[in-house]
Amino acid sequence: MNTPAHLAVGLLMYRNEHGRGAAVALAAGAILPDAPMFVFYGWQKLVEGTVETDIWGHLYFEDHWQLFFDVFNSIPLMLLLMLICRLLDLRWGLLLAGSALLHLCCDLPVHHDDAHRHFLPLTHWRFVSPVSYWDPDHHGLWFMLFEFTGTIAACAYVMWKGEHPPMRWMAAATLLLYASAITFAAIMWLPQLVKAARPVELNANSSIAFIANTNRAGFKPLSDFNKSKPDFRFVNTNIHVINVRFSKKYVESIMD
Ligand SMILES: [Zn+2]
Repeated sequence: MNTPAHLAVGLLMYRNEHGRGAAVALAAGAILPDAPMFVFYGWQKLVEGTVETDIWGHLYFEDHWQLFFDVFNSIPLMLLLMLICRLLDLRWGLLLAGSALLHLCCDLPVHHDDAHRHFLPLTHWRFVSPVSYWDPDHHGLWFMLFEFTGTIAACAYVMWKGEHPPMRWMAAATLLLYASAITFAAIMWLPQLVKAARPVELNANSSIAFIANTNRAGFKPLSDFNKSKPDFRFVNTNIHVINVRFSKKYVESIMD
């Protein structure tokens, strides 16, 4: 899920915790699993000056970056952190780790081809969910709608009904963060989405332009292509337009 949504879930769960420290620990825990991704993005964007398509379509999937992300998304490691905080009787530490664990439990069922290795170091297995929190090919639009409504509802609830001012302020800050995140995404990624969403036309000599999404899942559009008429709605990041020439017979066989 998107980071502000994790904050909203955490706020709802821990709304009865009192004190400013508790609100900060809760927020830090909700952000912690996504923090390495912000470091990665900031580094690539600001230091290396890499373009968006390379950042998300290629570099994101490199082994060393994946390991960096996945260590912070490990359920066993987070449980270990909780145990340590419990033994040392660190209230805020326990709250931070609990909030981070909640983040991981929310992420587990909504990642498709960007799934994390949530059980490192015990296993490298990834749960590839049929639902993605963003990919329209895997119910992403429905989930985004659900996430958007849920985040606003949870923050509004804590703001109005919360007993402790720090939690209420944190809920207001989350809404503000959410609004900025949506604005940022609209500016950065919407033009690319619109570009990628234009349907591709078949021309007379049966030369087909198709958009290949080359993340580590490989060239998956070909299988999608077989399903129906060309309707490419790829929102993933590394988008290339490739002209491929198919035989006329093949084109006729896949066009009903
Ligand atoms: Zn996450």
